[in-house]
Amino acid sequence: MNELTKKVFDKIDELSGKYLNVLVDACNIESKTENKEGVDKVGAYFSSIAENMGYVIKKREFEKAGNVYSFTYNPTGKKKQISLSGHMDTVHKKGIFGYPPTKIEGDYVYGPGVNDCKGNIAVELLVMEALKACDYDERPVKLILQSDEEVNSYLSDHKTLEFMVEEAKGSAAFLNAENIDSNRCLTIGRKGITAYKITINGKKIHAGLCTNGSSAIKEAAHKIIEFEKGNDNDSITFNCGIISGGEATNIVCDMCELFVEYRFKNMQQKKTADEKFKKIVETSYVEGTNSKAEQISTRLPMEPDDKNKNLVHIINDICKQVGIRPFGMAETPGGADSAYPSLAGIPTVDSIGIEGSGCHTLNEKARISSIAEMAKVVAAVIINFPE
Ligand SMILES: [Zn+2]
Repeated sequence: MNELTKKVFDKIDELSGKYLNVLVDACNIESKTENKEGVDKVGAYFSSIAENMGYVIKKREFEKAGNVYSFTYNPTGKKKQISLSGHMDTVHKKGIFGYPPTKIEGDYVYGPGVNDCKGNIAVELLVMEALKACDYDERPVKLILQSDEEVNSYLSDHKTLEFMVEEAKGSAAFLNAENIDSNRCLTIGRKGITAYKITINGKKIHAGLCTNGSSAIKEAAHKIIEFEKGNDNDSITFNCGIISGGEATNIVCDMCELFVEYRFKNMQQKKTADEKFKKIVETSYVEGTNSKAEQISTRLPMEPDDKNKNLVHIINDICKQVGIRPFGMAETPGGADSAYPSLAGIPTVDSIGIEGSGCHTLNEKARISSIAEMAKVVAAVIINFPE
């Protein structure tokens, strides 16, 4: 391990307590995606840290989504930029974790966003401060913060993602910090997701004369079976997660709503899934019904391609040099923003963040000692990256 890496590792150990406090403070500001006020407070909090550190701050404001930021350390560095990223919004309703929302027990911290994803932002800010404290000056290091990740960026109409890709342009690597789990795998592939609301109209009639009506519920039942037929966890999956409609058992239902999502591993599968969806929506399995679909959101896939695999090999080579246990590679069915820098051609890995579990549940937790462990991985990659 070279002198600088060693010095930065010592600094990370020294500063990790400070950044546990940053994690706790940020998670105590509740920020469900639609709560713009909350997300903006988180952004202002991180931004105040960046300002104190003298990073170059860029901010883009949005009407419905939270404002997004980039913080750059050492913008004039000669080597290629490395981009870090995380999102400030959570899925959790305000108050469901009690007050204060964030709690520490032993080596674990519990609360909304401790691993998805504010805890990771704390890790990245720790890396940046440690590099600065050791006068690292070889490349720009940019932290990009997102605000509507948990809703596939529909609140900003994907404008937050455009900001992310624009800020990351030309990077040698994009390290997206969703949490890592105890299996210690970096994520190189994630599914894309498209969600729709489908409204089915039929013909209402007395249940005793049902063959003269057109049941919207019966049509929905046919559609759901058609959608979910052929589901394959390794490629395309359809799920109808919400259904509503009908008034009484003695009335043939004339209106029914379905909420359906589908997931796909690559753009080819997306095309197949789009076509299957369209065909099923346009087909009337029950005569006299008609259906229309309205897209709620869509997110493209992070394809597990060679540039992402190669980035994991580079990270593992660096880990070996500095005495850190290497990582495995994984693909997951969950979507994330990392798809977009990856599709823009930047070598990207995800899950290079705090170790935790229980995302999207009241059991969301993160291991405190992993703050320094993972900060060392990110710092070692920035310092020793070959390009
Ligand atoms: Zn999440």
